[in-house]
Amino acid sequence: MERNLTIRYEEFVSAENLAPAEQKLLNRAIEATAGSYAPYSHFNVGAAVELENGEIISSANQENAAYPSGICAERSALFYAHSKFPDIPVVAIAIAAKSNGRLTETPTYPCGACRQVLHESQQRGGKKIKIIIGSAAKVQVIESVGGLLPFAFDNLPQESEDVKNKKG
Ligand SMILES: [Zn+2]
Repeated sequence: MERNLTIRYEEFVSAENLAPAEQKLLNRAIEATAGSYAPYSHFNVGAAVELENGEIISSANQENAAYPSGICAERSALFYAHSKFPDIPVVAIAIAAKSNGRLTETPTYPCGACRQVLHESQQRGGKKIKIIIGSAAKVQVIESVGGLLPFAFDNLPQESEDVKNKKG
């Protein structure tokens, strides 16, 4: 039997077409590129994570001479958000990147490792995480992590009724 997957996303020519909250989050991601440490790639990525309580955590990529020791903007922001607010679900993340001081022409999508972390963040919080990706030419809004990572690896134990009830 053949099956098809559909990925839903919106695309706009400019960030001005986004809802105000989405615009604000994307601006925070763009601002965060200033904190990027990228002496090797010269590719400055910023990410801003929005939590259900309205809190916004932003971060940027941090490289290292020992390449795998660095970390992407998305994971840096997500891990900080989870360590600071472990019980508050993430509801959105905005991502933007600059090269030579200018916003990239096309969207910069999260790498595979960040998609996996986003997947678990979404599962952990039990809320869809909206992904907003900016660029000079267009802005895309993907409705959930499933659009970036279908067939995700998944090893979280099933929640007991007890935990579900606690979350309400
Ligand atoms: Zn990444």
